[in-house]
Parts: sequence; structure tokens; C-alpha cells
Amino acid sequence: MMNTNVKTMSGRFGQTTLNRKLSYNRMLIVLLLMVFVVAGFLPISNANAAQLRAGVAKVDITDTKAGPVNDRLYVRALVLNAGETTAVIITVDAVAIGEIGYISNNYLGKVRSQIENELQIKPGTVLINASHCHGVVCSDVDRRTFQAVKEASMNMVPVNVGAGIGYEDRIMENRRLKLKNGKEADVRHAYSLVPDEEVAGVGPVDPEIGIFRLDRKDGRTLAVVYNFAIHPIQGVPGGGNTADITGFASQVIEDNLSEGTIALFLQGCAGDINPVWYKDVNHPRDAEPLGNMLGLSTLRALREIDSKRDDRFKVINEVMELPRADIAQRILSLESEQERLIQSLSGTSLNLKTFIPLVVKYNISSEYPSYYSHGYMHDKVRGRDDLEKLDSENRRNMSQYIHNIHIMEQLTRNQTNLALLQKHQAGSIAAGKGTIDVELLGLRIGEFVLLTFPGELSVQIGLNIKKMSPHEFTFVAGYTNGYIYYAPTAEQLRNVGGAQEDSDCLLAPEWQKLYEEKMDALLRKL
Ligand SMILES: [Zn+2]
Repeated sequence: MMNTNVKTMSGRFGQTTLNRKLSYNRMLIVLLLMVFVVAGFLPISNANAAQLRAGVAKVDITDTKAGPVNDRLYVRALVLNAGETTAVIITVDAVAIGEIGYISNNYLGKVRSQIENELQIKPGTVLINASHCHGVVCSDVDRRTFQAVKEASMNMVPVNVGAGIGYEDRIMENRRLKLKNGKEADVRHAYSLVPDEEVAGVGPVDPEIGIFRLDRKDGRTLAVVYNFAIHPIQGVPGGGNTADITGFASQVIEDNLSEGTIALFLQGCAGDINPVWYKDVNHPRDAEPLGNMLGLSTLRALREIDSKRDDRFKVINEVMELPRADIAQRILSLESEQERLIQSLSGTSLNLKTFIPLVVKYNISSEYPSYYSHGYMHDKVRGRDDLEKLDSENRRNMSQYIHNIHIMEQLTRNQTNLALLQKHQAGSIAAGKGTIDVELLGLRIGEFVLLTFPGELSVQIGLNIKKMSPHEFTFVAGYTNGYIYYAPTAEQLRNVGGAQEDSDCLLAPEWQKLYEEKMDALLRKL
């Protein structure tokens, strides 16, 4: 009995000691956790296990020697870091990263190597997106780009982040027109539109504004990254140098958030997306109200996005080979179509000077265009139809003249597109290989997922990628890290030579499937 009691007692005694030790350990763990939380080092479920930090800056890149300036052009930089991972998002108010416009082909490499040498940031994690506005940037844009990145990297602060989606459908339209004959045409200033009666329908737009917000820990906004698909080519009254729609939008966003907030616009899949009223001839075209609408719609959505600590951060950089098109046959057939059109022009008695007054007269009074009604009545009493005969002759000539004008308009469309095809065919032959390398970047920061492409993707491709993505906030930025012209859908490429996107293009139709499969795989890795 005694022994048992002692055993029991000693057992109880032993357990109590263990309990005391356990609760002491628990306290220690809780205390340590509190220290970690206060210090901001508590690992969230992510690979980086480090607090996301960010810095921003913007530098003016307006070419002041290129004529009157309506509004300034900027390069904006956002440097992000968490533990071992660093990435840089740079947005430039320029038409493209090399190839066309004012940014040279060595810009990307030059900026990236300076960033690598002086800031030890890997080139493959540096993303540079052109807004695709047609403004004129200064010649030392590379130096100023690095300056923005350096400034941003010197002002890094811990951030909370959030992602969301805004909505805007009033400022843009698909610029490709589906025609009754099965072909497609597009809305450009380079040539006349097709006659209204040939148009059967229009293509899609993407009204989503992809939004990524970064807030300081005290709640003030640090930066807003927003993605939308629109050609910022509206221009401003008077024609001054301008960052266009997206420049105005960024300004509106920056003016209405915390002091010093930087709004970085990432151009989306805008290959076939124009501003509305692009061909207006009755009012001076003005990018500012359209930009204000985009900025305000972004701000409205931003209010609904909460930011929180979320250190998920991943950058994947891959190079992909895409098939080049061989358009030699299409060039030959377009050349013979031009010849056929020229042959179909026929002589008429009218010229522009006689045609225009006749058109006015015959539209004002279709019954009695050539004289007052009584003249026709007296003619009838006399048993004559001289005025009616004159009218039918004039009508025949007018309709022939209009026919010639429509042929002329078709010739100018074909000629513009043919010149693009010839240029790219020559380029393909000079390249000496059947493929083209493109750099693709996949980025995840918190809930925000971004894919990039170095060309002008058609809007449908962006819509497809968003639909296939397993991530709620997936966005696509074209015009990034290089420029390989337009990247239309395989279906749009059945229309080669008919519109800009399918003519100003290096790719064979198979490219779309290969690219979308690649993006599907890349999204799964993010
Ligand atoms: Zn374009």
C-alpha cells in the first residue's frame, strides 16, 4: 500500500512538475511569437518568409525640344523585395520598348545591365512596359529610367498589398470591323473606312481594370499598378506632345491618393482596341476626358480593395520560340488584287468639282433636282422628258464616280497593308530563321498575378488567358520587355492583308495555340 501510495504520490509530483515545465515553455513560445509579430518577421505561408517591401519613383522623360508640350511624359519605377527575391516594374510613356518610336533597340539591355551592375538586381526580374502612347521621349530616356529605379530602390518601405478589378467600358472600342463578305477591316487614320453598308459586326473589348495596390504600414498609399487595354492614341487639341489617355489617368490617380503616390499604368492586350470617337472630324479629339474616366474608374474600384500583409512573391522569366509567318503567297495575291481593282476603274464625265454640287442637289430634292417642279410639269405638258433624261444621266455618272471612289479607298487600304506585309517579309528573310524568340515574364505579388508579352496582343487573347487562369486576379500586359509588332488571334490571321493587326505581324497563325498553352503552364507555376 505504502509503496503504491508513494508511487502515486511521486507520480503526481512528477506530473505537476511536467505541467509547470510545459506551461513555462508555452509562455516562452507565445512571448517569442509576440516578439516576431511586433518585429514584422512572422512567416506567412509562403516561400519567401520575409516582409514585402517596396519603393517608387517617377522621372520626367518629355522631349522638350520636340515642339509644344501639352502634358509631361514619365518613366515610373516600382522596386519590390522580399528576402532573396527582388523585382522591378517600370512603366514608360512611350510607344514601344525598341523597334518603333523613340526608344532604341539597345534600351532594354542597357537599363537592365546598369540595374544589375549598380543595384545587384537580376535582369530577368526587371519588367519594362510601354504605355503605347505616341508621345516623344527624350534621347537619354535610358539614363532617366535608371535614375527612377535607383531612387525607388533607396526609399524602400514595408508594404501591405491588395488586388482587385475595376470596370470601364465607355472609352474604348474594338477597331476591327467584321464585314458581310467574311473579311475584316480596321479603323485607322492611315486610310478610309469601308462603306457602312459593308459592316456586319464589331469585335470584343475588355472592360476590366486590373488593380494592384501597395500601402505603407500606416495606411497611406504608396503605389497603384493598374492594367487596361486601350491604344492611347487619341491625341490632344492642338496636337502637343502628350502621354495621352493613360498619362491623364495616372495623373488623376496620383492627385487623389496620399502625397507622393505613384500610379503605374501597364498596357494590356490592346492590339485591336482603339479609343472611342477615333475618327471624329467634327470635334478636336481629346485624350483628357477619356483618361479622367479611366482614372476615376480605377479610384472607385481601389476604394473597395483592402490591403494586408501578403508576402507571396514570385518571378518567372522564360524565353519562348514562336513560328514566323511566310506571307510570300499572300503578298502575290494582294498585288494581283490591286491590279484587278485598277482595271475595274471606269471613266465618267464627272470630276470632283462637278460631282459634289450634284450630290448636294440630288439629296436635297430627289424628285426635282435639276430645276423647280414647275419646269418638270411644263415639260410633261409639252410631251417631253428632257429634265428626267438629264437626271438619269447625272445619276448614272454619280454612281459610277462613287464606285471609283470606293475602289480608290480599297486601293489605299490594300496599299498600306501591302507595304506592312512587304516590310515584314523582308525582315523575316533577313532574320534567316523560321522562329522568333520572345521573353515572357510571370509575376505574382500577393493576390496579383501578371503575365507579360513583348507585342501587341489582341484583346481576345487576354480574355482567353484570364478565363483559363486558376488565379482570381490574373492580368496580361503586352508591350513589355521588347516589341515584336502585333500578335493577333489565329482567326484574325485568316485576314492577312486586310487590317493592320494581321498585316503588321511577324507570326504564323499556330502561334496563338502554342502561346496560350505556354501561359496555361506558366500560370500553374505562379
Ligand atoms: Zn499599336
